[in-house]
Amino acid sequence: MSSVLILVDGVNGQVAKSTGELATFAKRIGEVTAVVFDPSLIAGLTAFAIDKVVVVNGFDATKFSPAPIAETLAQLASAKQAKAVLVTSSARGKEVAGRLAVLTQSGVITDAIDVDADLITTQSVFGGSTTVHATVTHGCAVITLRSNSIEVLAGSGAPAQEEFTPTISDGAKLATVTSVEPAVKGGRPELTEATIVVSGGRGTNGDFKPVEAFADSLGAAVGASRAATDAGWYPHTHQVGQTGKTVSPQLYVACGISGAIQHRAGMQTSKLIVAINKDPEAPIFELADYGVVGDLFNVLPQATAAVAAKK
Ligand SMILES: Cc1cc2nc3c(=O)[nH]c(=O)nc-3n(C[C@H](O)[C@H](O)[C@H](O)COP(=O)(O)OP(=O)(O)OC[C@H]3O[C@@H](n4cnc5c(N)ncnc54)[C@H](O)[C@@H]3O)c2cc1C
Repeated sequence: MSSVLILVDGVNGQVAKSTGELATFAKRIGEVTAVVFDPSLIAGLTAFAIDKVVVVNGFDATKFSPAPIAETLAQLASAKQAKAVLVTSSARGKEVAGRLAVLTQSGVITDAIDVDADLITTQSVFGGSTTVHATVTHGCAVITLRSNSIEVLAGSGAPAQEEFTPTISDGAKLATVTSVEPAVKGGRPELTEATIVVSGGRGTNGDFKPVEAFADSLGAAVGASRAATDAGWYPHTHQVGQTGKTVSPQLYVACGISGAIQHRAGMQTSKLIVAINKDPEAPIFELADYGVVGDLFNVLPQATAAVAAKK
């Protein structure tokens, strides 16, 4: 059976959900081998559909940068004759993928939202207006996959475990991480990993309280349009869109957002889109699966109360 490597992500003993998504995609292709650099993440891997775990020894997990990770994956891909290596589409993941592709002289595909058993990937480009299918035609397929693109398959037992000590070149050691401090955040989930995102736009007129209250009732992350972040109503780190973050949650609720192409670029691949807008002609309704024509200051408190009543 073909071997597929996935790179495990996570911090402080918490395996990122995106790792479970990589395992789910990898399972379609062949035997799933998870490569883990941080031993604190090993226990969490039983939750996912992983056949084998390779624990990488030899360098401090808190100091690794993309270069030694790429060298390790290249050595493992060769040793296991891997058909593909799947990595999460984060900035770090894409750097690892690019370096790995050079080291293995393989093709690389980034920001895929799907990959099938024949390694045909799907990408959503040009603001979601175009769907591209592509495949790697040379070497071991190096593919980065966007978070929230697939429902995670549960694991069915403890995977077999082995250890691996890579040979890291001096060049790959030229940059090391000197410290890592998790960002101080509230109780809400991280925007790009959230299953539900509730976003506010210019229609909030600067008052995000109803948006936040509705998000909290659903355990959702809060996003914002650029009009809202440029106005200083919400932090730029929450901006969704072409020049903000790309999200692909199961549910995206756009509140007081018109649906400009640059906003769509960051949320168009959401599984279910709900729009609340007082203008029935707002372009967001062309994209939405469900729409409420109304004032968000009336609609959101009622929706929040309805969710609370169901709990
Ligand atoms: C190069 C470039 C990059 C960009 N990048 C991004 C990006 O990353 N993300 C992004 O979002 N934008 C981006 N933009 C800006 C984008 O073009 C739009 O200007 C922006 O998305 C508009 O934000 P909005 O929908 O909140 O505001 P508007 O377009 O002003 O829409 C506000 C909407 O709220 C509705 N509304 C008003 N009051 C209420 C109410 N009380 N209840 C319900 N509905 C109400 C109105 O009917 C309207 O539809 C970019 C633009 C450029 C040129």
